[in-house]
Amino acid sequence: MSHLMNTYARLAVAFSHGEGVWLFDEDGKRYLDALSGIAVSTLGHNHPRLVRAIAEQAGCVLHTSNLYRIPLQEELSDRLAALSGMDEVFFCNSGCEANEAAIKLARFYGHRKGVDQPTIIVMENAFHGRTMATLSATGNRKTQAGFEPLVSGFVRVPYKDIGAIRKVAEHNGNVVAVMLEMVQGEGGINIADDEFQRELRSVCDERGWLLICDEVQCGIGRTGGWFAFQQAGVMPDVVTVAKGLGSGVPIGACLVAGRATGLFGPGNHGSTFGGNPLACAAGLETLSTIEDDHLMMNAVKMGEVIKSGLREALDGVSGVVDIRGRGLMIGVELDRPCGELVARALDAGLLINVTAERVIRLLPPLIFSEQDAHALVHLLAPLVRKHLEQ
Ligand SMILES: *Cc1c(COP(=O)(O)O)cnc(C)c1O
Repeated sequence: MSHLMNTYARLAVAFSHGEGVWLFDEDGKRYLDALSGIAVSTLGHNHPRLVRAIAEQAGCVLHTSNLYRIPLQEELSDRLAALSGMDEVFFCNSGCEANEAAIKLARFYGHRKGVDQPTIIVMENAFHGRTMATLSATGNRKTQAGFEPLVSGFVRVPYKDIGAIRKVAEHNGNVVAVMLEMVQGEGGINIADDEFQRELRSVCDERGWLLICDEVQCGIGRTGGWFAFQQAGVMPDVVTVAKGLGSGVPIGACLVAGRATGLFGPGNHGSTFGGNPLACAAGLETLSTIEDDHLMMNAVKMGEVIKSGLREALDGVSGVVDIRGRGLMIGVELDRPCGELVARALDAGLLINVTAERVIRLLPPLIFSEQDAHALVHLLAPLVRKHLEQ
């Protein structure tokens, strides 16, 4: 027994070290990591470039303060702006903090326009975090239950339903923004099609709303482009990132462009740790490695290998509803709950996750090789088959 608060139904395993796409437990058993600690370990484990960058930075300075200039933070903001097409960056330490910044920004934007009760349209099955504002934005009752009163100022519509959004626009003059994941992660790997994304952009333009893309899980190369919104060529006004940006070192960011720029001034928002030199060194090295090693192209290729491998291995097995995904963000939807598969996969030496009760979620490191992809299919398919045949 430890003194940890019981916030996670943890598996009993503990990992002592990692190497590439593998994690090793305290008994030396190895596990193929097809989860990346939920889309975090972009470069896998013990990546020599990241280890060196972090060690060198630790030997210089870990933390100064946002009371001073931080050149690495300036450099990382330039890189993120160039990759995303956004103009300004605020750094924080996690996804929910990045979304908190986005929500505050949307409200600030609303008040500037004379909207007294600024309201943000959010989606069913969305996940935006567990702080009070972000759990209120999240579209899952389990996340919210027991924490009422929720933060007000959100209205919810079904995902990918442009008609529902237009309807809200007609009778709610307080709307100032729409916030969504272009690929929903926790919600079960649901993908917003290009047409919906473009129509959403037009509605936001017509109404003067901010389009806020939560790219905390789908961003930073995971779906095969730097950001999922780039697939349809739609430019958001606000983008949030975190998880994969530091490849294991906590860092988050809120990026803004166009009418969302220049809103915050000194005193409106802040963070003690946000964008400290260590975190920014990890972020910069992660981005450079993705670029130098063509990891986005790899994500597209390996995503195809995994999806086609699973389709072939599970061909004709009844109970498989859908195998979908973009890049290395993959969902295998079954017709029944499948939470037990996580422990069975663990026994078999494979790390996966199940979300939305019946969607197996795969988020491998972007360094996954073809051999790793085949190994994943080989380990996972028999477990799925057995689960559906029992
Ligand atoms: C994980 C996640 C968050 C919350 O990130 P934390 O770092 O856990 O606060 C927010 N949005 C999305 C889409 C996520 O997947």
